[in-house]
Amino acid sequence: MMEENIFSSPVQFIKNVGPRRAALLRRLGIETVGDLLYHFPRRYEDRSVTRSLVSSLLGETVTTYGVVIGGQEYRPRKNIQISKLALDGGRGVFYGVWFNQPYILSQMPPGTRLIVTGKLNRRFGAYEISVQDYEVIPRGLPLAPRRIVPVYTTTEKLYQKHLRTIIKNALEAWLPKINEFLPEELLRRHQIPSISEALYQIHNPDHPDKARAAYRRFVVEECFLFELALAILRERIRKKTKPHRYLRAGSLIPRVKASLPFHLTGAQKRVWHEIETDMQKDVPMRRLLQGDVGSGKTVIALLALCKAVESGLQGALMVPTEILAEQHYLKIKSFLKPFGVTTELLVGSMPESRKKEARSRILLGQSSIVIGTHALIQDKVMFHKLGLAVIDEQHRFGVRQRALLQEKGVQCDLLVMTATPIPRTLALTVYGDLDVSEIDEMPPGRREIETRVIPKEQLGKVFALLCAECSKGRQAYVVCPLIEESEQLNSEAAVELYRKISKQLAGQFRIGLLHGKMSAEDKEGVMEDFRAGHIDILVATTVVEVGLDVPNATVMIVFDAERFGLAQLHQLRGRVGRGSERSWCVLVADPKTEEARKRLKAIESTSDGFALAEVDLRIRGPGDFFGTKQSGLPDFRVADLQRDWRLFVQMRKEIPRYIKSLKPGTFKYFLLEQRLRHFQGKNLLYSLD
Ligand code: ADP
Ligand code: MG
Repeated sequence: MMEENIFSSPVQFIKNVGPRRAALLRRLGIETVGDLLYHFPRRYEDRSVTRSLVSSLLGETVTTYGVVIGGQEYRPRKNIQISKLALDGGRGVFYGVWFNQPYILSQMPPGTRLIVTGKLNRRFGAYEISVQDYEVIPRGLPLAPRRIVPVYTTTEKLYQKHLRTIIKNALEAWLPKINEFLPEELLRRHQIPSISEALYQIHNPDHPDKARAAYRRFVVEECFLFELALAILRERIRKKTKPHRYLRAGSLIPRVKASLPFHLTGAQKRVWHEIETDMQKDVPMRRLLQGDVGSGKTVIALLALCKAVESGLQGALMVPTEILAEQHYLKIKSFLKPFGVTTELLVGSMPESRKKEARSRILLGQSSIVIGTHALIQDKVMFHKLGLAVIDEQHRFGVRQRALLQEKGVQCDLLVMTATPIPRTLALTVYGDLDVSEIDEMPPGRREIETRVIPKEQLGKVFALLCAECSKGRQAYVVCPLIEESEQLNSEAAVELYRKISKQLAGQFRIGLLHGKMSAEDKEGVMEDFRAGHIDILVATTVVEVGLDVPNATVMIVFDAERFGLAQLHQLRGRVGRGSERSWCVLVADPKTEEARKRLKAIESTSDGFALAEVDLRIRGPGDFFGTKQSGLPDFRVADLQRDWRLFVQMRKEIPRYIKSLKPGTFKYFLLEQRLRHFQGKNLLYSLD
């Protein structure tokens, strides 16, 4: 029966699940039988039965077997009730003790066969177990000599014991009806068990090896489904053609190139060629541009935007912070003014009247290039003819926001840029729906940034460096400690640090303050002063983290650096070393954990963002690195990008073969589709339609 699918049958129909337990299960994200069966154990406990209790096991949790020979109850204090059963373990008598479970005695009369688990003590010369878990073995059933018990993530009021029973019931009722949905060849190649075997073994392993094999099956399964979803998505995109076309040889690009104050590096030329080629195709571009901090991605975005403009289309550039939007806007606007290109800024904190005017110019096509923050993807914003959408610092946005910007046009071209590089192999799988370009070369004349980790006690050294550099006419950023909880607290910390530094240095230097709680206008003013060199030292929160480009700034000081992630520190460091002067990055830190020490050591010893990304992956795993929620990475149940990346890469290669063997309309195809939907629904990866 096709309707009887585990991924659509509600969990209520399982024995022992009523409305109350169904509600508890829902809290665990379990609504269907499939959800329940894919709720895998968090770990296992080895409860192999210990045949003889010996003193070397005292204090340990043991599992043993006994036949009830008698029992008693007592109440030593008002709120405590104790049930004590004497059990014959075959090699001597021991006691099982239960607290506040008054039914134990009546439920387990003499002769009952029991397996009990709990901590082993000795009292008055006899062994005694404080029972944490027990199981009655029905007459006639043998004792399994080795028992591996699953431990699940559960929720308040839903006990392990109950969850185990419910899952057991579900397996009993459904296993005979579950059919394999993965290609046979996949099972064979990876030597993994079938779905029913794997589901059974992952919940009730006969042996640890069986549990491992089952686990492996689900890793392969998730990996396969993920790559399959990406392949379907790529295929679908490939079939779309875009309504707009670009001029093959327009007049704006050559003029813009000629007036750049520098020559493009070889890497910039290469990626520009890749992008331009993509834009000229009939299908929409979907490209990721990776390049380390300071490698010069902005100018590439500028060229792409100009290509849209010279072809009579609009281009949009979305960035994560208002300060960065403002910076890009000012630069691009003044650069393109001589060419008669109109540039528009749209950020949330602009007065409503100004926003309204901007929106109307965007709608009428009077603005060719639109630069902004999340404000760009609001419903109210409509474009006249958007050809290209660029997203800078794309790791700060989610898949959904990326899609929303793209939907402002009709099949518009998409270029996403990131300075938070990820290893290429991983990029191919994670951003599997995008093509990847890489700027792997820095503009000429850059000098290595000197990075030092300095303990708080040596703050004097830090100030000396600040004074020395600012006296030479250079500028500095001072970033205050990061307080995760709120922007409010961060801003207060910045004000505090600003006061401290002003007290010490206000006579000598001009000091500015920048934080998230300031009005947009004040922020703009401060940034303008800093850019113009009217401020020597800028005390700021992490609002300065991404994108800012002030080449005269040569010092970056980060307080409490141990609180920052590696990617974040690398970004902050990237604010300096943008000119030809020697630059410093000072990390004032007092690392307390091994992990923090490793992070700081890594940033001190390498300036290569890609190498740092690899280190970060090793230290923290990709989940943290990408900020799973933001990157649109699925949250896998058992697969792990860091551990299993080879499998992902291999699977990506194998996928076309498997796709060929899938025959639409067959029962197997239907089953796979069901599971894929289930997988994607959970991950909110991409919608199927
Ligand atoms: P990012 O890749 O971090 O966004 P930017 O685009 O902000 O880097 O560029 C960093 C700095 O390098 C800017 O000041 C920019 O003008 C400069 N720059 C970019 N390309 C070149 C180049 N080919 N030669 C010299 N300087 C360049
Ligand atoms: Mg940038």
